[in-house]
Amino acid sequence: MKNYDVIIAGAGSAGVPLAMFLAENKIKVLVLEKKPSCGQGQNKAAIGGIRATHSDGSKIKTCLKSLEIFSSWHEKEGEDIGWRRGGYLFPVYREKEEKTLKELLKTQEKFGLNINWISAQEVKELVKGINEDGLIGGTFSPNDGSASPLLSINAFYRKAVSNGAEFSFNEQIKEVKKKGNLFSVKTSDKEYETPIFINAAGAHAKEISLMLGVDIPVKPDCHEAGITEPAERFVEPMVVDIREGEKSKNYYFYQNFEGQIIFCMTPDPQIWGYDRKSTSEFLPEISKRMLNILPGLSNIKVRRVWRGLYPMTPDGFPIVQFDAAGVENYIIAAGMCGQGFMLGPGLGWIISKIITKQASKEDESIYNFRLNRDFSGQEKLK
Ligand SMILES: Cc1cc2nc3c(=O)[nH]c(=O)nc-3n(C[C@H](O)[C@H](O)[C@H](O)COP(=O)(O)OP(=O)(O)OC[C@H]3O[C@@H](n4cnc5c(N)ncnc54)[C@H](O)[C@@H]3O)c2cc1C
Repeated sequence: MKNYDVIIAGAGSAGVPLAMFLAENKIKVLVLEKKPSCGQGQNKAAIGGIRATHSDGSKIKTCLKSLEIFSSWHEKEGEDIGWRRGGYLFPVYREKEEKTLKELLKTQEKFGLNINWISAQEVKELVKGINEDGLIGGTFSPNDGSASPLLSINAFYRKAVSNGAEFSFNEQIKEVKKKGNLFSVKTSDKEYETPIFINAAGAHAKEISLMLGVDIPVKPDCHEAGITEPAERFVEPMVVDIREGEKSKNYYFYQNFEGQIIFCMTPDPQIWGYDRKSTSEFLPEISKRMLNILPGLSNIKVRRVWRGLYPMTPDGFPIVQFDAAGVENYIIAAGMCGQGFMLGPGLGWIISKIITKQASKEDESIYNFRLNRDFSGQEKLK
Protein backbone atom coordinates (compact mmCIF):
# COMPACT_ATOMS: atom_id res chain seq x y z
CA MET A 1 0.00 0.00 0.00
CA LYS A 2 1.37 3.41 -1.03
CA ASN A 3 0.93 6.45 1.19
CA TYR A 4 0.56 10.07 0.13
CA ASP A 5 0.17 13.41 1.92
CA VAL A 6 -2.87 14.22 -0.23
CA ILE A 7 -5.06 12.21 -2.59
CA ILE A 8 -7.24 14.08 -5.07
CA ALA A 9 -10.26 12.46 -6.72
CA GLY A 10 -10.43 13.65 -10.35
CA ALA A 11 -7.91 14.95 -12.89
CA GLY A 12 -10.13 17.72 -14.20
CA SER A 13 -10.33 21.51 -14.27
CA ALA A 14 -10.07 21.70 -10.47
CA GLY A 15 -7.92 18.66 -9.62
CA VAL A 16 -5.00 19.15 -12.01
CA PRO A 17 -4.00 22.76 -11.15
CA LEU A 18 -4.51 21.93 -7.48
CA ALA A 19 -2.09 18.99 -7.77
CA MET A 20 0.35 21.28 -9.59
CA PHE A 21 0.38 23.84 -6.76
CA LEU A 22 0.49 21.20 -4.00
CA ALA A 23 3.46 19.46 -5.60
CA GLU A 24 5.18 22.82 -6.08
CA ASN A 25 4.94 23.13 -2.28
CA LYS A 26 6.62 19.73 -1.84
CA ILE A 27 3.41 17.91 -0.91
CA LYS A 28 3.35 14.25 -1.96
CA VAL A 29 0.18 14.17 -3.99
CA LEU A 30 -1.62 11.50 -5.98
CA VAL A 31 -4.48 12.19 -8.38
CA LEU A 32 -6.80 9.27 -9.09
CA GLU A 33 -8.71 9.53 -12.36
CA LYS A 34 -11.10 6.98 -13.80
CA LYS A 35 -10.57 8.11 -17.41
CA PRO A 36 -7.43 7.36 -19.47
CA SER A 37 -5.97 10.90 -19.27
CA CYS A 38 -6.54 14.29 -17.69
CA GLY A 39 -9.32 16.65 -18.75
CA GLN A 40 -11.53 13.89 -20.14
CA GLY A 41 -14.44 14.73 -17.81
CA GLN A 42 -16.04 18.15 -18.24
CA ASN A 43 -12.82 20.12 -18.75
CA LYS A 44 -12.78 19.28 -22.44
CA ALA A 45 -16.43 20.34 -22.78
CA ALA A 46 -15.59 23.91 -21.72
CA ILE A 47 -15.40 26.53 -24.46
CA GLY A 48 -12.41 28.26 -22.86
CA GLY A 49 -13.87 31.48 -21.45
CA ILE A 50 -11.93 32.97 -18.53
CA ARG A 51 -13.47 35.95 -16.78
CA ALA A 52 -13.31 37.66 -13.44
CA THR A 53 -16.61 39.31 -14.36
CA HIS A 54 -18.84 37.71 -11.73
CA SER A 55 -21.50 38.93 -9.32
CA ASP A 56 -19.68 37.90 -6.15
CA GLY A 57 -16.45 39.04 -4.52
CA SER A 58 -14.99 35.57 -3.87
CA LYS A 59 -15.48 34.47 -7.45
CA ILE A 60 -14.06 37.74 -8.74
CA LYS A 61 -10.92 37.43 -6.60
CA THR A 62 -10.44 33.73 -7.38
CA CYS A 63 -10.70 34.38 -11.11
CA LEU A 64 -8.40 37.40 -10.93
CA LYS A 65 -5.81 34.93 -9.63
CA SER A 66 -6.68 32.49 -12.41
CA LEU A 67 -6.33 35.23 -15.01
CA GLU A 68 -2.86 35.99 -13.68
CA ILE A 69 -1.91 32.30 -14.07
CA PHE A 70 -3.41 31.78 -17.55
CA SER A 71 -2.15 35.08 -18.97
CA SER A 72 1.45 34.65 -17.81
CA TRP A 73 1.75 30.94 -18.63
CA HIS A 74 3.33 31.26 -22.05
CA GLU A 75 5.93 33.74 -20.87
CA LYS A 76 6.77 31.86 -17.65
CA GLU A 77 6.56 28.25 -18.86
CA GLY A 78 7.23 28.66 -22.58
CA GLU A 79 4.12 26.73 -23.54
CA ASP A 80 1.31 28.20 -25.64
CA ILE A 81 -2.10 27.43 -24.14
CA GLY A 82 -4.06 29.51 -26.64
CA TRP A 83 -4.44 32.46 -24.26
CA ARG A 84 -5.96 35.65 -25.74
CA ARG A 85 -6.92 38.72 -23.76
CA GLY A 86 -9.98 39.70 -25.77
CA GLY A 87 -12.09 40.93 -22.86
CA TYR A 88 -15.74 40.15 -22.08
CA LEU A 89 -18.48 42.27 -23.60
CA PHE A 90 -22.09 42.20 -22.37
CA PRO A 91 -24.02 44.19 -25.01
CA VAL A 92 -27.30 45.64 -23.72
CA TYR A 93 -30.54 46.16 -25.67
CA ARG A 94 -33.10 46.59 -22.87
CA GLU A 95 -33.42 48.63 -19.68
CA LYS A 96 -33.84 45.41 -17.70
CA GLU A 97 -30.31 44.18 -18.49
CA GLU A 98 -28.91 47.71 -18.20
CA LYS A 99 -30.22 47.90 -14.63
CA THR A 100 -28.89 44.42 -13.72
CA LEU A 101 -25.41 45.02 -15.14
CA LYS A 102 -25.06 48.54 -13.75
CA GLU A 103 -26.05 47.25 -10.31
CA LEU A 104 -23.36 44.54 -10.58
CA LEU A 105 -20.71 47.09 -11.52
CA LYS A 106 -20.69 48.32 -7.91
CA THR A 107 -19.61 44.91 -6.55
CA GLN A 108 -17.27 44.25 -9.45
CA GLU A 109 -15.44 47.56 -9.03
CA LYS A 110 -15.28 47.10 -5.25
CA PHE A 111 -13.34 43.86 -5.73
CA GLY A 112 -10.84 45.35 -8.14
CA LEU A 113 -12.26 44.24 -11.48
CA ASN A 114 -11.31 46.39 -14.45
CA ILE A 115 -14.77 46.89 -15.96
CA ASN A 116 -16.70 49.81 -17.41
CA TRP A 117 -20.07 50.70 -18.77
CA ILE A 118 -19.49 51.65 -22.41
CA SER A 119 -21.67 53.47 -24.96
CA ALA A 120 -23.44 51.90 -27.94
CA GLN A 121 -20.81 53.53 -30.17
CA GLU A 122 -18.00 51.85 -28.20
CA VAL A 123 -19.78 48.50 -28.42
CA LYS A 124 -20.01 48.92 -32.21
CA GLU A 125 -16.30 49.62 -32.40
CA LEU A 126 -15.50 46.50 -30.37
CA VAL A 127 -17.71 44.21 -32.47
CA LYS A 128 -17.89 45.36 -36.07
CA GLY A 129 -21.26 44.53 -37.59
CA ILE A 130 -23.12 44.03 -34.30
CA ASN A 131 -26.88 44.59 -34.50
CA GLU A 132 -27.38 48.31 -33.75
CA ASP A 133 -31.15 48.11 -33.48
CA GLY A 134 -32.02 49.16 -29.91
CA LEU A 135 -28.40 48.88 -28.74
CA ILE A 136 -28.04 50.92 -25.51
CA GLY A 137 -24.43 50.16 -24.55
CA GLY A 138 -22.89 47.44 -22.45
CA THR A 139 -20.21 46.46 -19.97
CA PHE A 140 -16.68 45.63 -21.06
CA SER A 141 -13.94 44.04 -18.96
CA PRO A 142 -10.77 44.18 -21.07
CA ASN A 143 -8.60 41.94 -18.89
CA ASP A 144 -10.77 38.83 -19.26
CA GLY A 145 -9.91 36.38 -22.00
CA SER A 146 -9.83 32.80 -23.19
CA ALA A 147 -7.55 29.81 -23.57
CA SER A 148 -7.78 26.27 -24.85
CA PRO A 149 -9.08 23.95 -22.08
CA LEU A 150 -7.20 20.96 -23.51
CA LEU A 151 -3.90 22.76 -24.05
CA SER A 152 -4.20 24.33 -20.60
CA ILE A 153 -4.96 21.18 -18.64
CA ASN A 154 -2.16 19.29 -20.37
CA ALA A 155 0.25 22.14 -19.62
CA PHE A 156 -0.85 22.11 -15.95
CA TYR A 157 -0.53 18.31 -15.92
CA ARG A 158 3.03 18.36 -17.29
CA LYS A 159 3.98 21.03 -14.77
CA ALA A 160 2.35 19.04 -11.94
CA VAL A 161 4.33 15.92 -12.95
CA SER A 162 7.59 17.87 -13.17
CA ASN A 163 6.82 19.28 -9.71
CA GLY A 164 6.56 15.69 -8.45
CA ALA A 165 2.82 15.00 -8.49
CA GLU A 166 1.70 11.46 -9.36
CA PHE A 167 -1.31 10.63 -11.51
CA SER A 168 -2.97 7.28 -11.88
CA PHE A 169 -5.37 6.99 -14.81
CA ASN A 170 -8.01 4.33 -15.50
CA GLU A 171 -8.45 4.09 -11.74
CA GLN A 172 -11.96 4.62 -10.51
CA ILE A 173 -12.46 5.34 -6.82
CA LYS A 174 -14.90 2.77 -5.45
CA GLU A 175 -14.73 3.36 -1.72
CA VAL A 176 -13.42 6.03 0.66
CA LYS A 177 -13.42 5.46 4.42
CA LYS A 178 -12.02 7.38 7.36
CA LYS A 179 -10.00 5.13 9.67
CA GLY A 180 -8.58 7.07 12.60
CA ASN A 181 -6.57 9.94 11.14
CA LEU A 182 -6.28 8.39 7.70
CA PHE A 183 -8.53 7.98 4.70
CA SER A 184 -8.48 4.60 3.04
CA VAL A 185 -9.17 5.00 -0.68
CA LYS A 186 -10.03 1.87 -2.67
CA THR A 187 -10.04 1.79 -6.45
CA SER A 188 -10.80 -1.06 -8.84
CA ASP A 189 -7.59 -2.91 -7.92
CA LYS A 190 -5.58 -0.88 -5.40
CA GLU A 191 -5.84 0.65 -1.95
CA TYR A 192 -4.18 3.85 -0.71
CA GLU A 193 -3.94 5.74 2.57
CA THR A 194 -3.73 9.46 3.05
CA PRO A 195 -4.29 12.00 5.84
CA ILE A 196 -5.94 14.49 3.43
CA PHE A 197 -8.54 13.58 0.83
CA ILE A 198 -9.82 16.11 -1.73
CA ASN A 199 -12.97 15.58 -3.71
CA ALA A 200 -12.58 17.24 -7.12
CA ALA A 201 -14.74 14.73 -8.97
CA GLY A 202 -16.85 17.29 -10.86
CA ALA A 203 -20.24 15.98 -11.94
CA HIS A 204 -19.61 12.84 -9.82
CA ALA A 205 -18.59 14.69 -6.66
CA LYS A 206 -21.80 13.80 -4.83
CA GLU A 207 -21.20 10.04 -5.31
CA ILE A 208 -17.69 10.34 -3.88
CA SER A 209 -18.84 12.52 -0.99
CA LEU A 210 -21.59 10.07 -0.05
CA MET A 211 -18.85 7.42 0.40
CA LEU A 212 -17.85 9.50 3.44
CA GLY A 213 -21.44 10.06 4.48
CA VAL A 214 -21.43 13.72 3.41
CA ASP A 215 -24.24 14.75 1.09
CA ILE A 216 -23.51 17.69 -1.21
CA PRO A 217 -25.96 19.48 -3.52
CA VAL A 218 -24.10 18.97 -6.82
CA LYS A 219 -25.98 17.62 -9.80
CA PRO A 220 -25.21 17.44 -13.51
CA ASP A 221 -26.87 20.11 -15.63
CA CYS A 222 -26.51 19.61 -19.41
CA HIS A 223 -25.19 22.39 -21.63
CA GLU A 224 -24.31 22.30 -25.31
CA ALA A 225 -21.63 24.08 -27.27
CA GLY A 226 -20.31 24.21 -30.82
CA ILE A 227 -17.36 25.30 -32.93
CA THR A 228 -17.08 26.65 -36.47
CA GLU A 229 -14.46 26.47 -39.17
CA PRO A 230 -11.63 29.00 -38.69
CA ALA A 231 -11.90 32.49 -40.18
CA GLU A 232 -9.72 35.58 -40.31
CA ARG A 233 -9.88 37.52 -37.06
CA PHE A 234 -12.94 39.74 -36.93
CA VAL A 235 -14.02 39.78 -33.27
CA GLU A 236 -11.92 39.97 -30.12
CA PRO A 237 -14.15 39.90 -27.02
CA MET A 238 -16.35 37.12 -25.70
CA VAL A 239 -19.86 38.39 -26.46
CA VAL A 240 -22.40 37.48 -23.77
CA ASP A 241 -26.07 38.14 -24.35
CA ILE A 242 -27.98 37.69 -21.07
CA ARG A 243 -31.47 38.17 -22.55
CA GLU A 244 -33.71 35.14 -22.58
CA GLY A 245 -34.65 33.51 -25.91
CA GLU A 246 -37.46 31.19 -26.91
CA LYS A 247 -35.78 28.01 -25.63
CA SER A 248 -32.74 29.48 -23.91
CA LYS A 249 -31.45 31.88 -21.32
CA ASN A 250 -28.05 33.48 -21.97
CA TYR A 251 -25.67 32.50 -24.77
CA TYR A 252 -22.12 33.57 -25.57
CA PHE A 253 -19.47 33.22 -28.24
CA TYR A 254 -15.95 34.33 -29.13
CA GLN A 255 -13.26 33.76 -31.73
CA ASN A 256 -10.53 31.53 -30.36
CA PHE A 257 -6.77 31.65 -30.92
CA GLU A 258 -7.16 29.57 -34.08
CA GLY A 259 -9.88 31.81 -35.54
CA GLN A 260 -12.79 29.48 -34.82
CA ILE A 261 -16.01 30.80 -33.32
CA ILE A 262 -16.91 28.81 -30.20
CA PHE A 263 -20.38 29.18 -28.76
CA CYS A 264 -22.47 27.92 -25.87
CA MET A 265 -25.99 28.40 -24.53
CA THR A 266 -28.01 27.88 -21.35
CA PRO A 267 -31.08 25.85 -22.31
CA ASP A 268 -34.49 26.79 -20.94
CA PRO A 269 -35.77 24.71 -19.25
CA GLN A 270 -32.61 23.25 -17.73
CA ILE A 271 -31.78 19.66 -18.73
CA TRP A 272 -30.67 17.57 -15.76
CA GLY A 273 -28.80 14.26 -15.91
CA TYR A 274 -25.72 12.58 -17.35
CA ASP A 275 -26.88 12.20 -20.97
CA ARG A 276 -24.25 13.71 -23.28
CA LYS A 277 -26.04 13.17 -26.61
CA SER A 278 -26.49 16.40 -28.58
CA THR A 279 -30.08 17.64 -29.01
CA SER A 280 -31.76 18.82 -32.23
CA GLU A 281 -32.89 22.03 -30.50
CA PHE A 282 -29.48 23.52 -29.68
CA LEU A 283 -28.11 24.52 -33.08
CA PRO A 284 -31.32 26.07 -34.49
CA GLU A 285 -31.88 28.06 -31.29
CA ILE A 286 -28.35 29.39 -30.84
CA SER A 287 -27.71 30.11 -34.53
CA LYS A 288 -30.95 32.14 -34.69
CA ARG A 289 -29.81 34.19 -31.70
CA MET A 290 -26.20 34.61 -32.86
CA LEU A 291 -27.27 35.69 -36.34
CA ASN A 292 -29.63 38.22 -34.81
CA ILE A 293 -26.84 39.87 -32.85
CA LEU A 294 -24.07 39.47 -35.45
CA PRO A 295 -25.59 38.88 -38.93
CA GLY A 296 -22.14 38.48 -40.54
CA LEU A 297 -21.84 35.07 -38.88
CA SER A 298 -24.20 33.64 -41.49
CA ASN A 299 -21.19 33.04 -43.76
CA ILE A 300 -19.37 30.71 -41.41
CA LYS A 301 -19.85 26.93 -41.21
CA VAL A 302 -20.35 24.99 -37.98
CA ARG A 303 -17.94 22.06 -37.68
CA ARG A 304 -19.31 20.20 -34.69
CA VAL A 305 -21.41 20.48 -31.56
CA TRP A 306 -21.15 18.68 -28.22
CA ARG A 307 -22.93 18.40 -24.92
CA GLY A 308 -21.35 18.38 -21.49
CA LEU A 309 -22.34 18.70 -17.86
CA TYR A 310 -22.13 21.66 -15.53
CA PRO A 311 -21.54 20.25 -12.01
CA MET A 312 -24.34 22.48 -10.72
CA THR A 313 -25.15 23.75 -7.23
CA PRO A 314 -28.51 25.32 -6.30
CA ASP A 315 -27.08 28.85 -6.18
CA GLY A 316 -24.52 28.63 -9.00
CA PHE A 317 -21.50 29.05 -6.69
CA PRO A 318 -18.87 26.35 -6.09
CA ILE A 319 -18.39 24.43 -2.86
CA VAL A 320 -14.94 24.65 -1.31
CA GLN A 321 -14.96 23.27 2.20
CA PHE A 322 -12.23 22.10 4.56
CA ASP A 323 -13.15 19.49 7.23
CA ALA A 324 -16.46 19.06 5.43
CA ALA A 325 -19.40 18.16 7.71
CA GLY A 326 -16.95 17.57 10.55
CA VAL A 327 -14.89 14.95 8.68
CA GLU A 328 -11.42 16.23 9.52
CA ASN A 329 -9.15 16.80 6.49
CA TYR A 330 -11.88 15.96 4.01
CA ILE A 331 -11.79 18.83 1.50
CA ILE A 332 -14.45 19.45 -1.11
CA ALA A 333 -13.52 21.36 -4.27
CA ALA A 334 -16.59 20.73 -6.37
CA GLY A 335 -19.79 22.24 -7.78
CA MET A 336 -17.83 24.38 -10.25
CA CYS A 337 -21.02 24.93 -12.31
CA GLY A 338 -20.27 26.63 -15.64
CA GLN A 339 -16.96 28.11 -14.51
CA GLY A 340 -14.65 25.31 -13.41
CA PHE A 341 -12.08 25.91 -16.12
CA MET A 342 -11.66 29.55 -15.11
CA LEU A 343 -11.90 28.88 -11.35
CA GLY A 344 -9.53 25.88 -11.31
CA PRO A 345 -6.09 27.56 -11.18
CA GLY A 346 -7.15 30.28 -8.72
CA LEU A 347 -8.82 27.77 -6.42
CA GLY A 348 -5.88 25.36 -6.70
CA TRP A 349 -3.53 28.14 -5.69
CA ILE A 350 -5.51 29.20 -2.63
CA ILE A 351 -6.35 25.64 -1.46
CA SER A 352 -2.67 24.66 -1.68
CA LYS A 353 -1.70 27.75 0.32
CA ILE A 354 -4.21 26.90 3.04
CA ILE A 355 -3.10 23.24 3.20
CA THR A 356 0.54 24.25 3.48
CA LYS A 357 -0.34 26.91 6.05
CA GLN A 358 1.06 29.75 3.95
CA ALA A 359 -2.19 31.62 3.40
CA SER A 360 -2.49 35.13 4.74
CA LYS A 361 -5.84 36.40 6.06
CA GLU A 362 -6.22 38.23 2.73
CA ASP A 363 -5.56 34.99 0.80
CA GLU A 364 -8.08 33.11 2.93
CA SER A 365 -10.69 35.78 2.36
CA ILE A 366 -10.51 34.97 -1.36
CA TYR A 367 -12.58 31.93 -1.13
CA ASN A 368 -15.91 31.83 0.63
CA PHE A 369 -17.78 28.93 -0.87
CA ARG A 370 -18.85 27.05 2.28
CA LEU A 371 -20.93 23.90 2.29
CA ASN A 372 -23.01 25.08 5.24
CA ARG A 373 -24.54 28.07 3.43
CA ASP A 374 -28.28 27.99 2.74
CA PHE A 375 -27.87 28.14 -1.08
CA SER A 376 -30.71 30.66 -1.32
CA GLY A 377 -28.62 33.32 -3.09
CA GLN A 378 -28.13 33.30 -6.85
CA GLU A 379 -25.07 33.92 -9.00
CA LYS A 380 -26.43 36.53 -11.44
CA LEU A 381 -23.86 35.83 -14.16
CA LYS A 382 -24.01 32.03 -14.34
C1 LIG B 1 -20.70 23.23 -22.92
C2 LIG B 1 -19.87 23.69 -21.76
C3 LIG B 1 -19.15 24.88 -21.86
C4 LIG B 1 -18.39 25.33 -20.77
N1 LIG B 1 -17.64 26.46 -20.91
C5 LIG B 1 -16.88 26.87 -19.88
C6 LIG B 1 -16.05 28.03 -20.01
O1 LIG B 1 -16.03 28.68 -21.05
N2 LIG B 1 -15.30 28.40 -18.94
C7 LIG B 1 -15.31 27.70 -17.76
O2 LIG B 1 -14.64 28.12 -16.82
N3 LIG B 1 -16.06 26.60 -17.62
C8 LIG B 1 -16.84 26.17 -18.64
N4 LIG B 1 -17.61 25.05 -18.50
C9 LIG B 1 -17.69 24.40 -17.19
C10 LIG B 1 -16.49 23.51 -16.93
O3 LIG B 1 -16.31 22.61 -17.99
C11 LIG B 1 -16.71 22.75 -15.61
O4 LIG B 1 -17.13 23.63 -14.59
C12 LIG B 1 -15.41 22.13 -15.15
O5 LIG B 1 -14.82 21.34 -16.14
C13 LIG B 1 -15.65 21.30 -13.89
O6 LIG B 1 -14.39 21.00 -13.37
P1 LIG B 1 -14.20 19.82 -12.34
O7 LIG B 1 -12.76 19.67 -12.10
O8 LIG B 1 -15.11 20.05 -11.18
O9 LIG B 1 -14.78 18.55 -13.13
P2 LIG B 1 -14.08 17.72 -14.32
O10 LIG B 1 -13.22 18.58 -15.15
O11 LIG B 1 -15.17 16.96 -14.96
O12 LIG B 1 -13.13 16.72 -13.51
C14 LIG B 1 -13.63 15.75 -12.64
C15 LIG B 1 -12.89 14.47 -12.91
O13 LIG B 1 -13.22 13.50 -11.90
C16 LIG B 1 -13.20 12.23 -12.51
N5 LIG B 1 -13.95 11.30 -11.67
C17 LIG B 1 -15.28 11.33 -11.37
N6 LIG B 1 -15.59 10.31 -10.56
C18 LIG B 1 -14.45 9.61 -10.33
C19 LIG B 1 -14.13 8.44 -9.58
N7 LIG B 1 -15.07 7.75 -8.90
N8 LIG B 1 -12.84 8.00 -9.56
C20 LIG B 1 -11.88 8.65 -10.26
N9 LIG B 1 -12.14 9.75 -11.00
C21 LIG B 1 -13.39 10.23 -11.02
C22 LIG B 1 -13.87 12.49 -13.86
O14 LIG B 1 -13.58 11.47 -14.79
C23 LIG B 1 -13.26 13.84 -14.24
O15 LIG B 1 -12.11 13.72 -15.05
C24 LIG B 1 -18.37 24.58 -19.57
C25 LIG B 1 -19.06 23.37 -19.48
C26 LIG B 1 -19.82 22.93 -20.57
C27 LIG B 1 -20.56 21.64 -20.45
